[in-house]
Amino acid sequence: MAAVVEAAADLSLIAYGDVVAGCEKCALSQTRTQVVFGSGSPTAELMFVGEAPGFHEDKQGVPFVGAAGKLLGKLLDGIGMSRDDVWICNVLKCRPPGNRDPLQEEIEACEPHLWRQIELIQPALIATLGNFATKLLSGKPAGITQVHGREQQVVLGGNPVTLYPIFHPAAALYTPRMMNVLEEDFRRIPELLGRAAPPPPPPAPLYALEPAAEPSVQLGLF
Ligand code: URA
Repeated sequence: MAAVVEAAADLSLIAYGDVVAGCEKCALSQTRTQVVFGSGSPTAELMFVGEAPGFHEDKQGVPFVGAAGKLLGKLLDGIGMSRDDVWICNVLKCRPPGNRDPLQEEIEACEPHLWRQIELIQPALIATLGNFATKLLSGKPAGITQVHGREQQVVLGGNPVTLYPIFHPAAALYTPRMMNVLEEDFRRIPELLGRAAPPPPPPAPLYALEPAAEPSVQLGLF
C-alpha cells in the first residue's frame, strides 16, 4: 500500500512539473531558457529550498548544478546522503536576468508552485538555504545569520514540518570561513531526520573548493 501511495505521489509531482514547465504567470517566462522545477526524490523526507536558478540551472533545467550546487553535493555526501535522497528546488522556478534579486510580483506569482511541491512531497524537514528562502518560509523577518542552525516548527502545505535554516552554500564560496559553519549545521540534519549521525568526515582543505563559476553573484546569502 505504501508503495502505491509513493507511486501516486511520483505521478502527481511529475504531472505538476509538466504544468509548471509552461508557466507564464510572470515576466520571467519571457527571459528564461526553461523552468527549473526541482530534482531528486518525489517522496523525500528532506527538501532543500534555495532562492532562484542561476545561469547554469537555467541552461540545464536542474537546480544547484553550478559551483554552489557542487558544494551542496559534497555537504550531502559528508552526512551520508546524495541528491537522489532529497528534493532540491528554489522559491523562484525561473532565473531572474543577471541573477538579480527576485521582485515581489515574481515571488507572489511563483510561490504557489513551492507550496504545491511541499503538499505533494510532504517532507518532514525543509532546509532553507540563505536569507531569502528562510524569510519566506518562516514568515519572519529574522535573517539567516541570526537563525541558522536552529530548527523551527511550522505548518507548510497543510502539514507540520521542521524548518531548518542554513547558510546558502554560495556563502562559503565567497567567504571560506563560512565552510565550518555550514558543515556544522549540516551535521545536525541526520539527527533532525531521526537518524544516527555518520562519523564526522575529515576536514576538507579549503584549497579543494572550486572557485565560483557563475557569471554574477546571487545576493541575499547572509
Ligand atoms: N543558487 C540558488 O539559490 N539556486 C540554484 O539553483 C543555484 C544557485
